[in-house]
Amino acid sequence: MRATAAVVGSGPNGLGAAVVLARAGLEVVVHEAAPTPGGAARSAPLLGPGTVVDLGAAVHPFGAASPLLRALDLGRHGLEWLHPPVVAAHPLDDGPAGLLHRSLARTAEELGPDGRAWTALHRGVAERWEDVAETALGPLLRRPRHPAALASFGLRAPWPAAATARALFRTERARGLFAGSAAHAVLPPGHVLTSAFGTLFGAAAHTTGWPVARGGSQAVADALVAELAAHGGRVVTDSPVTDLRQVRPADVVLLDLTPRQVLALGGLDLPPRYRRALARWRHGPGAHKVDLLLDGPVPWRDPRVGRAGTVHLGGTLAEIGAAAAQVRAGRLPERPFVLVAQQGAADPSRAPAGRHVLWAYAHVPHGCADPAAGERVLGQLERFAPGVRDRVLARVDTPPARLEAWNPNLVGGDVGGGALDGLQQVFRPAVQADPYATGVPGVWLCSSSTPPGGGVHAMAGAHAAARALRELARR
Ligand SMILES: Cc1cc2nc3c(=O)[nH]c(=O)nc-3n(C[C@H](O)[C@H](O)[C@H](O)COP(=O)(O)OP(=O)(O)OC[C@H]3O[C@@H](n4cnc5c(N)ncnc54)[C@H](O)[C@@H]3O)c2cc1C
Repeated sequence: MRATAAVVGSGPNGLGAAVVLARAGLEVVVHEAAPTPGGAARSAPLLGPGTVVDLGAAVHPFGAASPLLRALDLGRHGLEWLHPPVVAAHPLDDGPAGLLHRSLARTAEELGPDGRAWTALHRGVAERWEDVAETALGPLLRRPRHPAALASFGLRAPWPAAATARALFRTERARGLFAGSAAHAVLPPGHVLTSAFGTLFGAAAHTTGWPVARGGSQAVADALVAELAAHGGRVVTDSPVTDLRQVRPADVVLLDLTPRQVLALGGLDLPPRYRRALARWRHGPGAHKVDLLLDGPVPWRDPRVGRAGTVHLGGTLAEIGAAAAQVRAGRLPERPFVLVAQQGAADPSRAPAGRHVLWAYAHVPHGCADPAAGERVLGQLERFAPGVRDRVLARVDTPPARLEAWNPNLVGGDVGGGALDGLQQVFRPAVQADPYATGVPGVWLCSSSTPPGGGVHAMAGAHAAARALRELARR
């Protein structure tokens, strides 16, 4: 008889785990509480007919670099990465925006006096990108298979991004561009190891890129569901699992859940030490999302910003640091750090002709319910694109509580499955050799609360599934 597997949650990690298990010959059923699969990689016509809005993830540096997604060749199931003409833009109040291009040489050239330092910081990592991606998207605690890949980050990797930016760059443009890339980790630029994140995101831009998925991020989830079906697996939607006994007849169970949800599951007798570790798990800041339908392109003061797939609205390095410090102190900044995605720069299918869909979210305090948050996002947009308010035809705000109601893994609006600071950078979710083991035989954790953390890469699912298969083979 075929061994059976149940996966709880159909986010990218749950689906990635399911695909790995199904391809190994197991009979796999994924239970998803929501009416549609995909977790935080879903899309919908939120802003009216003909619009495609990414309800969670929008831009896919991790997806394009993911060893699992690449090996699965998901193009067979309709997944197509589309690259915008400019990877990312970092506008400032004065002067031209900093632009991140696929070409390292062009990026450096436009950064003028900081070009040489930008190249020196990113070239080594970009040159070893395949090995770097495999290492960065692996469980960090194993003996590195590619020590040279880790070494390519250089001695500055543990430094705070702010210290690296001040030491290496003279212009606010280069400093802001680097700090903006590092801010994707939702950590203040003064935090240790944020240099490594900045360099990682920069090198990703110069290699596999930061693409969007044609037709919406849902295409990533749909392709994984199709691959699962091709190997006999299936997803059951509207199927919340509240007690492990609902799925326990399966030989292995993988949980695409955060620690808090695991603790709430009935019928799961966790070892006390692991239970205590899960109870100590800390979540990061929240996201306040704003989706806009515009009647024309965004009137960026620097028009080149309109060609970028991603835009960082944070201003100078000092300002990004100050906003992050306020968020950590539980206060909504007057000028929050805002990530904007302009999927239409790469994928014209996102809005009806003549219309533009703009996706944005601000870093706000965990669980922030301040009604001013949406207006602060608009304020940051207006600051770098005067007149944008007059172009707004429709607007939908999704504050942290609504994000969590939509997907219970987004605790307090935390998009990364748990803070990425302190011990949680390496030990996710507990200090133990195997991050995916729950201590209950046959039950594994596979969400972004395990390594390598947040992002649409499905690698936590892949690693957890590999452990489950090894254990099954030993039984
Ligand atoms: C607003 C936002 C923007 C983001 N932007 C990006 C981006 O641009 N690029 C990027 O790479 N990443 C981005 N992310 C992060 C990325 O989407 C997540 O890290 C990723 O989706 C995590 O995958 P996962 O499988 O671990 O969990 P999730 O995608 O959160 O999926 C978990 C699933 O489990 C289901 N579930 C929960 N409890 C139960 C239960 N009891 N029973 C059954 N099902 C259950 C949920 O309904 C959900 O479908 C963003 C996230 C958000 C919210």
